[in-house]
Amino acid sequence: GNFIPPIKSNGSNNGNLTQRIGGKRDDAMDDSTKKCLDMLCGPDGELPEKLRNLEPRLIEHVSNEIMDRDPNVRWDDIAGLDHAKKCVTEMVVWPLLRPDIFKGCRAPGRGLLLFGPPGTGKTMIGKAIAGEAKATFFYISASSLTSKWIGEGEKLVRALFGVASCRQPAVIFVDEVDSLLSQRKSEGEHEASRRLKTQFLIEMEGFDSGSEQILLIGATNRPQELDEAARRRLTKRLYIPLPSPDARAWIVRNLLEKDGLFKLSKEDMDIICKLTEGYSGSDMKNLVKDASMGPLRDALRQGIEITDLNKEDMRPVTLQDFKAALQEVRPSVSSNELGIYEDWNKQFGSLS
Ligand code: ADP
Repeated sequence: GNFIPPIKSNGSNNGNLTQRIGGKRDDAMDDSTKKCLDMLCGPDGELPEKLRNLEPRLIEHVSNEIMDRDPNVRWDDIAGLDHAKKCVTEMVVWPLLRPDIFKGCRAPGRGLLLFGPPGTGKTMIGKAIAGEAKATFFYISASSLTSKWIGEGEKLVRALFGVASCRQPAVIFVDEVDSLLSQRKSEGEHEASRRLKTQFLIEMEGFDSGSEQILLIGATNRPQELDEAARRRLTKRLYIPLPSPDARAWIVRNLLEKDGLFKLSKEDMDIICKLTEGYSGSDMKNLVKDASMGPLRDALRQGIEITDLNKEDMRPVTLQDFKAALQEVRPSVSSNELGIYEDWNKQFGSLS
């Protein structure tokens, strides 16, 4: 009785919402839902078979919240990881661009796992793949399926794969995939999450055997929790490690240059690289943010009011700002964790 549905009800009869077969529309649907379904209709004005029995509000949610028409990330935005970029281009980008060549012996796997510490660019790689392959990008966090979509995760998964098949080529990026396909729950697993996992594996099986241009990317920072079925389906497994010193330098330079704030010498950059050993890409971004506040804080310390502050009068960001920021922004990954990734990579990774 206390159950609150995660989706705001539009007060219509839910039982009727799914009916849109043979060109008939349901008057109970609101305009945005209708518009969304219209966009998925084929040239005959009919909804593709796969979508007909799905709830329109879930299709709408996938189209509006999960689908990203313009992920806007290119390889050049990602620091380092040259090896991963090269492998991914060959393994998944080319096959999505030229399905006619990549068939038979050259048929690609449809599942890719990106694993490694958090904040190292896994999501960026997923987006860049979609951008480079001119594919539609779908992003879902697996933990939201189990938390936010309690009892509805299965239906949402069906809607997700249904919409993706209408938007080919498509890249479905499942973040925290371990929470969906983990081995830990297998014994006392809740019925609902077991069903969700099964549904997910069925959907993957479906497009794996067909000619669909859909790539599933799972990302995780706990690869050791994936079960055997997940490993089997995510045939390519790439380790995305912490950034190298050069990649860390690139992130600093790139972020500061974008704002016209880069004035550091080569020597300063070398020191920053040394001091940031063990920082992830996202730690570096936070560090740069904090350091770039240095000149501003300095000016305010001298008694200048923020409203009177002249942008041109502010001093450039210095090594001292980075040293101060290093006290605030600590690395988020411990060296013990790295050992786990490296071991798992040796055992299950595609390329070490
Ligand atoms: P993950 O998916 O591995 O947890 P993300 O791809 O979401 O990490 O990265 C988080 C943020 O950290 C990005 O938006 C970006 O600003 C920064 N970042 C992480 N790795 C890199 C990288 N290799 N190159 C450039 N920026 C990066």
